[in-house]
Amino acid sequence: MSPIDTLVNSTIRPDVRAVASYHVADASGFIKLDAMENPYHLPHHLREDLAQRLADVALNRYPVASYASIKQRIVDKLGVPDGYDVILGNGSDELISILCMACAMQDRRATVVAPTPSFVMYQRSAQFAGMDYVGVPLKADMTLDLPAMLAAIAEHKPALVFLSYPNNPTGNLFAADDIVAIIRALDSNGSGLAVVDEAYEPFAQQTFMHRLPEFNNLVVMRTVSKLGLAGIRLGYMSAAPQLLAEFDKVRPPYNINVLTQVAAEFALDHVAVLNQQAAALRAARADLTAALARIPGVEVFPSAANFILIRVPNSDDAHAKLLAHKVLIKNVSKMHSVLANCLRITVSTPEENSAFLDAFTASLAA
Ligand SMILES: *Cc1c(COP(=O)(O)O)cnc(C)c1O
Repeated sequence: MSPIDTLVNSTIRPDVRAVASYHVADASGFIKLDAMENPYHLPHHLREDLAQRLADVALNRYPVASYASIKQRIVDKLGVPDGYDVILGNGSDELISILCMACAMQDRRATVVAPTPSFVMYQRSAQFAGMDYVGVPLKADMTLDLPAMLAAIAEHKPALVFLSYPNNPTGNLFAADDIVAIIRALDSNGSGLAVVDEAYEPFAQQTFMHRLPEFNNLVVMRTVSKLGLAGIRLGYMSAAPQLLAEFDKVRPPYNINVLTQVAAEFALDHVAVLNQQAAALRAARADLTAALARIPGVEVFPSAANFILIRVPNSDDAHAKLLAHKVLIKNVSKMHSVLANCLRITVSTPEENSAFLDAFTASLAA
């Protein structure tokens, strides 16, 4: 073995060496319907104003550590209840990792429970923090298996339960009553937090944010990524102030850079533009859902997000043929057995959606 391989093997954790790196497909030249991005850019006049604001940022200074001005805008404009604050993450990915780091015990292994399939970072962050991860399979129709979730909570007494609401990659909203039952079960254990991940809230228009005061053990997490600002990397979460104060100790002090902060403040000052784009995508989702449902042999799952899960006779074949047509979607069929032959398509502009539909129907016919 070469010296560098010996070094890697003796210093890097075996479980880290064993995992594959997070795969992101090269999308240049493709219609990109794989990553739940908002296809719309900010309007031209706003981009010019933003450029001026960014040019004025003091890049030589550290960010203002309190992040008070951006947090105030989030609290005021995004429905955070009175008496509740937020903490910020470099994307909600970082918030997931902060939660795991804060809850991973040193004297015993703490556990993360989540329905599966769901967002892959719950399992990854749990693992890297040294926590056990227990995935509870969804039912065949992609709904939550509440008795199985409650049994897993009773058995494993998890520190954290992650609930993607709506769920990625299935697109559906779990029943709100089921989520409440999970929050209550964790609370009566006296030791568990329920994290409701509302990354797709602009498309679902359903939230637990206003219900924070009802539950001590509820954490609500969101991101501006799917709303149209995936590139700036900004997530936020709210919970009881006593919990937030602890999470905040784990957060790297200057985790949000000054350019992100100014761009986010600017975007929130013009949040109506982003909300209009979300409304256009909700309308496009309805059109695309209806069009897909008319195609023989295609099963369409209901979506409250900006993507649609479908089942086709042969997902690998359909995915390959779409690639040949320069359309990139996500083949999720290998993620979990309930997703056999499933594909996930991000909802885009009417033009890109119909280009996808043309390529898709051609690929099924061929
Ligand atoms: C996309 C996604 C995130 C990650 O969001 P970032 O803020 O871009 O890190 C979190 N949770 C779910 C369920 C997602 O689909």
